[in-house]
Amino acid sequence: CTPGGTKVREEKIMVMVRVRPLSSREQAMYDLIALECPNEETVVFKNPNDERPCSSFTFDKVFSPTCVTARVYEGGAKDVALSALTGINATIFAYGQTSSGKTFTMRGITEYAIEDIYQYMQNHPERNFSVKISALEIYNETVVDLLNRNSGPLRLLDDPEKGTIVEKQVEEVVKDSQHLKHLIGICEAQRQVGETALNDKSSRSHQILRLTIESRLKENSGRVKSFVASLNLVDLAGSERASQTKSAGLRLREGSHINRSLLTLTQVIRKLSGGKRIGHIPYRESKLTRILQSSLGGNARTAIICTLSPAMSHVEQSRNTLLFATSAK
Ligand code: ADP
Ligand code: MG
Repeated sequence: CTPGGTKVREEKIMVMVRVRPLSSREQAMYDLIALECPNEETVVFKNPNDERPCSSFTFDKVFSPTCVTARVYEGGAKDVALSALTGINATIFAYGQTSSGKTFTMRGITEYAIEDIYQYMQNHPERNFSVKISALEIYNETVVDLLNRNSGPLRLLDDPEKGTIVEKQVEEVVKDSQHLKHLIGICEAQRQVGETALNDKSSRSHQILRLTIESRLKENSGRVKSFVASLNLVDLAGSERASQTKSAGLRLREGSHINRSLLTLTQVIRKLSGGKRIGHIPYRESKLTRILQSSLGGNARTAIICTLSPAMSHVEQSRNTLLFATSAK
């Protein structure tokens, strides 16, 4: 921090866009394609009454509907994920409206990241590694442990050294990649889902999977002896506004809380992308940003994968997602 309290960012946020194929439901409704990806950095809105594109957006990477998740991973998420093995905190987000492909994308990214992390550890026999996993869900601004559902809501505490910590959170020591996949499977099963008018399987919660990797040199060879860093894999709740999910009562309340965490996240990301003099960053205004503070900004590495439906019927939400993605660049 400078004396004025402004931080100097060293890492740019990697912003990627992934457009999924038209779903069978969209096809059955004769929905039209509203988005095209003319190259690997550009996405354009097509004008339904005109062959010419009406607006164009560029990003670090744009993945068209034919791109498989392996390509999305190799295209940028991989570098960010592997930085946790060298002591640099990292976060990969999926951001987008419900049914745009966030969970689909993050599951794949997580699988590839696990393969690579274990491969890397095998290729570095001079070091001892330890991997721990923790998993949280933020639902209604309430933090729940996905590895210990019986624990009830967890409190966030401020630790003078570690920053925000989650009280009584379970951290499981991972034996190997199979064990890790098993634990992630448990978290998936625990994740609370809600039914909305947009997607009956959609989740209204944020999920944070955190792998904490410690790396120690076995013998003193003059190289950096030990370091520890986290990789956060974050599947965000749908970015659509609560009012557009045609839900009421509890759903609406959830919606407003989800918007608070998402809104704060978008503000934090915008600030972090805003150049060198970025001023106060409102990390403390939501649970999500408090938990992720040490892995967002500063020297941490961040990748955001914005997921989009190509359908004309979702064009307003897609535009909102692309506006957020633009502000994150
Ligand atoms: P979200 O988590 O954003 O609500 P999902 O990941 O659940 O959305 O995706 C909605 C549906 O679309 C799922 O049935 C999923 O399998 C499918 N889907 C999403 N992205 C893709 C993709 N890139 N290719 C094929 N199917 C996809
Ligand atoms: Mg989902």
